[in-house]
Amino acid sequence: MRLGALEAGGTKMVLGVFDGRMKLLAQTSIPTKTPAETMPQIIEFFAGQKITSLGIAAFGPVNVRAGSADYGTILNTPKLAWQKYPLLKALSEGLGVPCRLDTDVNAAALAESMMGAAKGLKNCLYFTVGTGIGGGLYAEGQLIHGLLHPEWGHVLLTRHEEDPLLHGVCPYHPNCAEGFAAGPSIQARWGVPAKDLPEDHRGWDIEAYYLAQLCADALMTVSPEAILLGGGVMHSGQLIVRVRQHFLRLVNGYIDQEYLPEMADYIKPPALYPDSGLYGAGYLARSARKK
Ligand code: ZN
Repeated sequence: MRLGALEAGGTKMVLGVFDGRMKLLAQTSIPTKTPAETMPQIIEFFAGQKITSLGIAAFGPVNVRAGSADYGTILNTPKLAWQKYPLLKALSEGLGVPCRLDTDVNAAALAESMMGAAKGLKNCLYFTVGTGIGGGLYAEGQLIHGLLHPEWGHVLLTRHEEDPLLHGVCPYHPNCAEGFAAGPSIQARWGVPAKDLPEDHRGWDIEAYYLAQLCADALMTVSPEAILLGGGVMHSGQLIVRVRQHFLRLVNGYIDQEYLPEMADYIKPPALYPDSGLYGAGYLARSARKK
């Protein structure tokens, strides 16, 4: 069994090959350009690796409804060359192997639940905080899609009263999580990217307040057993520690302490980062093969 894994991202494509025990045998990455430029390179790599199935962890929004006519088609993305592009169909036809596709964040949630920071739990929520915000939910042993797929980045939040940004940077919503807390909002608010904002800057407290709202909303709606916070923005400003503090303040004792794990075990970094999505794609490939 040679499992192909593709983490399809907006700036790069990460390609991996796993054996049946999820040991990584090969890995490479290529920049995401147009489908005409990028797809032949992906197909050439996987064809050369003699994969037996392929899992795809895709940037969204994307149709994740297996069985629907445009399953695996990229939808309304700002990357215009990929809009309406039938990613799954092109790979399936190009490689002639069973394929399964899900969102990159759902794939990450799956891998973290199988072998990472949420191993052994049946309910895990994975958030990525980078150039955008996304969330993947593994619940009662399966990945959740619903109508399309959850869009955690566009959950509406209460604005921090000292936030110099009056409107978040999302073109659709003045006060959503992505607009207030993804990397571009930090740049818009303080004039520097997250990685250049000093550790003790008050911006980190505002950032943590928004992410804590997102986590509290998640606790109250889907009741995950663990919340994992990954993505480039999470590496700075002791952010996860601040998020835990704001989270406890916002929840305000409503969930009995008896049921809520220690914060260090509840809101924590993913174990497989930055490869959670790639490993998740490997698991998708493994289940694609079984069908
Ligand atoms: Zn939004």
